[in-house]
Amino acid sequence: MENLFDVIIIGSGPAGLTAALYSTRANLKTLVVAGRAWGGQLMLTTLVENYPGFPQGIQGPDLMIAMRKQAEHHGAQIVDVDFKSADYNSRPFKVRTDDEREFSGQTVIIATGADTKWLEVPGEKERIGRGVSSCAPCDGAFFRGKNVIVAGGGDSAMEEALVLTKYATEVTIVHRRDSFRASEIMQKRVKEHPKIKIIYSSEIVEILGENKVERIKIKNTKNSEVSEMPIDGVFVAVGHIPNSALFSGIDRDEQGFIKVYDHTKTNVEGVYVAGDVHDATYKQAVTAAAFGCMAALEVEKHLMEQAS
Ligand code: NDP
Repeated sequence: MENLFDVIIIGSGPAGLTAALYSTRANLKTLVVAGRAWGGQLMLTTLVENYPGFPQGIQGPDLMIAMRKQAEHHGAQIVDVDFKSADYNSRPFKVRTDDEREFSGQTVIIATGADTKWLEVPGEKERIGRGVSSCAPCDGAFFRGKNVIVAGGGDSAMEEALVLTKYATEVTIVHRRDSFRASEIMQKRVKEHPKIKIIYSSEIVEILGENKVERIKIKNTKNSEVSEMPIDGVFVAVGHIPNSALFSGIDRDEQGFIKVYDHTKTNVEGVYVAGDVHDATYKQAVTAAAFGCMAALEVEKHLMEQAS
């Protein structure tokens, strides 16, 4: 059957494409449902300095293009459509895509990653793309000569702020606590940058402006005082939400991360998980790739056991 695969991998970030590399090299017929925006979060970043093998770093999109080419080189079939649903009761599993195609898989690896977590404050949603963004490398150039805010205190917020210094006149990081959780090296770069200001112990509570961003309301988390501040752009970098909503029937925790029972196995035999969709702890490209490798090796083992 043409549409029958040994493994269907859903997602095409480092986890999905590494799984595809390993499964194809194990001679497993592999389909990657890549998504219409393929490549995951690294497609939205600039220089990646902590992926081993690149002494000078590598641009995120270049790394993903190389991973995709490598998986394809070894025989992975990749469809650039979105996953729609799956039937885990049938064997083989049935996987449907948003162009109404159906594929069959002896096994499935879920590697759909995670998406931006927004602040969920009044005025935010309607201004996404009109001054509110979660991607400085994508949208930073629109803020040349302007003043912008970055919300968050992790490495993503530090990275966004540093990227924005290339364009903006002033970058202000607003963080809800009085210390960052970002790595020391990123904090140091931010704190030493002449264009970056930091407002600790504060939260954005509302975004205001006529069809764009003009002001924010900001609340001091220590004394609850609210003040207004003029600003041209708000970059949100407060973490990510796992892309697990479409996987009903697969166990998830209260935050939506897919539960792992044993070495990338989900609650459904033959369905595995890899990367940020299950990993609330490490969330690195290199750990996602490693989970993809593990999931593919588990798939190989499972199929061998089934065949014997
Ligand atoms: P993190 O979870 O590390 O940080 C999220 C930040 O947002 C925290 O400071 C948190 O505050 C704050 N926050 C969360 N929710 C809200 C909210 N509703 N309102 C206001 N603030 C909020 O996520 P990141 O995306 O920064 O990083 C994820 C992982 O990716 C980390 O492991 C990080 O190290 C890694 N990473 C590494 C990079 C690099 O090495 N170059 C670049 C980017 C990411 P609080 O601290 O109070 O919880």
